Amino acid sequence: MRRIGHYIGGRDIASPTGRQAPVFNPATGEESGRVALASAAEVAAAVRTAAAAFPGWAATPPLQRARILGRFLRILEERTGELAAVITAEHGKVLSDARGEVQRGLEVVEFATAAPQLLKGQMTENVGRDVDSHAVRQPLGVVAGITPFNFPAMVPMWMFPVALAAGNCFILKPSERDPSASLLIARWLTEAGLPAGVFNVVQGDKEAVDALLAAPQVKAISFVGSTPIARYIYETAAKAGKRCQALGGAKNHMVILPDADMEQAADALMGAAYGSAGERCMAISVAVPVGAETADRLVEMLKPRVAALKVAPGTDAEAEMGPLITAAHRDKVAGFIASGEAQGASLLVDGRGLSMQGHEGGFFLGGTLFDHVTPDMDIYREEIFGPVLSVVRRDSFEDALALVNACEFGNGTSIFTRSGDAARRFAAGVEVGMVGVNVPIPVPMAFHSFGGWKASLFGDHHMHGEEGFRFYTRLKTVTTRWPKGTGGGADFVMPTMR
Ligand code: NAD
Repeated sequence: MRRIGHYIGGRDIASPTGRQAPVFNPATGEESGRVALASAAEVAAAVRTAAAAFPGWAATPPLQRARILGRFLRILEERTGELAAVITAEHGKVLSDARGEVQRGLEVVEFATAAPQLLKGQMTENVGRDVDSHAVRQPLGVVAGITPFNFPAMVPMWMFPVALAAGNCFILKPSERDPSASLLIARWLTEAGLPAGVFNVVQGDKEAVDALLAAPQVKAISFVGSTPIARYIYETAAKAGKRCQALGGAKNHMVILPDADMEQAADALMGAAYGSAGERCMAISVAVPVGAETADRLVEMLKPRVAALKVAPGTDAEAEMGPLITAAHRDKVAGFIASGEAQGASLLVDGRGLSMQGHEGGFFLGGTLFDHVTPDMDIYREEIFGPVLSVVRRDSFEDALALVNACEFGNGTSIFTRSGDAARRFAAGVEVGMVGVNVPIPVPMAFHSFGGWKASLFGDHHMHGEEGFRFYTRLKTVTTRWPKGTGGGADFVMPTMR
């Protein structure tokens, strides 16, 4: 059985004796490896290693740090296929989608190579007579990233390129369900010239996470995952005096106004709801057509498209959607479909019971479509994280906006319309962090920042972009005077500009 270990101090570390968890190939249902689950002592060793590497890395000029990231970027570009194959083997998403994930991640590396520009400070001459002030941003020290299963390469790359570029040392605790991508990344960073100990991977579960949260030398935590865990991470990190950004779950709505291009809206919904089997934090899981006629037309367009979705192993070039991550998750999503039916929603396409010849053990579920869903139903209130789209009908723009704003989550949303005025009012008034206008999945580019509102993000910094540099640095302001002559006597009043 393949053993998946840690990466500490610039090398792979086997952890054969401790706790382990199975890793599956979701397309076959077979166990493909066993991942180590770090003990608190193993995490402590990684933290010590990172802390020892910090002074040297922090003192490395930003230009040199950026050049190492530049070499890593070129490796990623050359080996995108290799990383994508590892993602598909453990996550199940289709290969083209896995390549897209790597692409969106490497764009953050590309952005972080601008560190010398982005870390430039501020200087003011003569804040007082013959007194100058300059402000610099300095790295925090050892920082940690705790990441979810659904983007095993991209989400870590939202974090560590910026953290490293800013001069921090990083400990990644990836999802135990698809841990292998993190090890490729770690080895390639070393190959690019990153000094040992600057980037480390500890595999594990709650025990490893709690050890990172408790370690005094870990100064900041970046987390992406479900809302209950995000809340726990944020509260625990805050209690320990750590800086924290904790991104949580989502329930993303797409509002379709009567003047929208319905073909475009239907196609957009298909990709946004069923791409990656709905296991995306920016997936659209709720369609909100405005007006009965809009809703009827939309549903008629969606029904045959959903029924015809090509569900197959991610390695099949024709596949539009692969399996779910585990059998337990597939069963949980199927349970939501049952609950939607029981609570009175109209089940138009039922993805349950899908079996694929030669892949009977795979964790597959077909695309599912519900109409006449209401906000009190569990399929509306809960994040399903599967290929299930709910249509919630609304009578007016105002009702649709109110529905989106009443939602507990505020990660992403989009509106489809030809009206500039409606789009503008929606973008201005919606309580969501990332908004699309005729764009179904408005994931911000690397040089903007990624983050939601409300239960989708605890903390005040979004990820990557300039927000990322702010999160991973602290501000220091130096006020300087070079007095002429000597003495001058003590001054007991608060310094003021004279
Ligand atoms: P998860 O919350 O189960 O796990 C995320 C991480 O937390 C993993 O590394 C896991 O090992 C760790 N973890 C799990 N339980 C823990 C516990 N009790 N204590 C401490 N650590 C724990 O999430 P997941 O199932 O891996 O990922 C799916 C979730 O992530 C969805 O809710 C999705 O919306 C969310 N997500 C959000 C974003 C975003 O940007 N907001 C992006 C991607 C995924």
